[in-house]
Amino acid sequence: MIVQPRIRGFICTTAHPVGCAVQVQQQIDYVRCQPSFTNGPKKVVVVGASTGYGLASRIVSAFGSQAATIGVFFEKEADGKRTATAGWYNSIAFEKAARRENLYAKSVNGDAFSDEVKEAVVDLIKKDLDSIDLLIYSVAAPRRIDSKTGQTYKSVLKPIGKSYTNKSFNFDTNRLETITLESASEEDIRQTIAVMGGDDWKLWIDVLSQNQLLANGFMTVAYSYMGPEVTRDIYRNGTIGRAKDHLEATAHQLAQQLQTIHGRAFVSVNKALVTQSSSAIPFIPLYFIILTKIMKEKGIYEDCIQQIYRLFAQHLYSGKNIMGDSQGRIRIDNLELREDIQKEVQKIWPQITDDNIEKFTDISGYREDFLKLFGFGLPSVDYNADVDIDLKF
Ligand code: NAD
Repeated sequence: MIVQPRIRGFICTTAHPVGCAVQVQQQIDYVRCQPSFTNGPKKVVVVGASTGYGLASRIVSAFGSQAATIGVFFEKEADGKRTATAGWYNSIAFEKAARRENLYAKSVNGDAFSDEVKEAVVDLIKKDLDSIDLLIYSVAAPRRIDSKTGQTYKSVLKPIGKSYTNKSFNFDTNRLETITLESASEEDIRQTIAVMGGDDWKLWIDVLSQNQLLANGFMTVAYSYMGPEVTRDIYRNGTIGRAKDHLEATAHQLAQQLQTIHGRAFVSVNKALVTQSSSAIPFIPLYFIILTKIMKEKGIYEDCIQQIYRLFAQHLYSGKNIMGDSQGRIRIDNLELREDIQKEVQKIWPQITDDNIEKFTDISGYREDFLKLFGFGLPSVDYNADVDIDLKF
């Protein structure tokens, strides 16, 4: 099939198998060119491993530390007429590359919130690895079915206490628009915490711990986001921020719980990046394109793989004590939140109009990065060639 991008709003409904493989390989090549770290992880589970920060975590573990990896994700395979999702192709490409290097790599495709998927991972570890020394939790999901009660929770992005109005860029119409989001109800907050808070992360650690699959010195890390002043009321002080507060509190709880095996639990606060999840959030892409232009001009821009390599090399496996902020969080968003960068964002944000958006932002870089998420826009790929879309693990 000849596969071209088909964009609907903030999602591309097609993915290119060859382009996705090239993208994965580029990340592997980046890691291979970096120094390896002291006593890196050897047996790793990544929950949310097929795209974005989770995929980068799997690649850094495998190709930076020769780790055996089990990846968990929720992706769709091709169905004859439709391509598979990008994460499906990414994960197949990852597994192939890992096997070429004799690295163990297995994947579980299914709902990470379910008991069945957790049990499948427990069985795989028992059969193949005995124990694990690192679990990365990098799920970004719009909803969760509670495995105990069967209730479906929905995650929403809403402000708390008052409505929020700001400008946002609409990539469909190519124009700025003003969006107002109404204040969340208590139920919105509860459900968003249930999806994006720490409950499921803890369920994973509990089930692995009950089965005695966590090695002595085991570590677990989940990803959070802080963001700038301009999005504070909608992000960090809103419903998703509450969920991130819960995730961060869960890290402290897990750290206590893991003491008996000298284990540790952290949250890493990462920078804003174009991923399938972040491009779906209003306001954030506009902030992101302003931020990216500034960070690129100052030579400090990083993407997922650079962020996660730095997390492993400078924090988790640097051989030194892991230093968090005042609340124990690892901060790899330090460059994004640098004072000079944020001053510049605050200066530019109110000036942005439809006429000057190209000049003041990295909008073209955003479009390129968005297409790359689905394997498109890569110069080495022939997009007119017939490709097999029905790839299997
Ligand atoms: P992403 O959309 O690229 O990846 C999400 C992953 O979760 C995919 O592997 C997907 O298959 C998996 N997933 C979704 N629902 C699932 C389910 N029910 N069962 C199993 N797997 C499921 O997202 P991302 O942007 O890399 O986000 C990952 C984490 O990083 C999130 O916690 C997010 O808040 C955090 N984070 C993101 C940013 C950003 O700007 N992108 C910044 C800081 C922190």
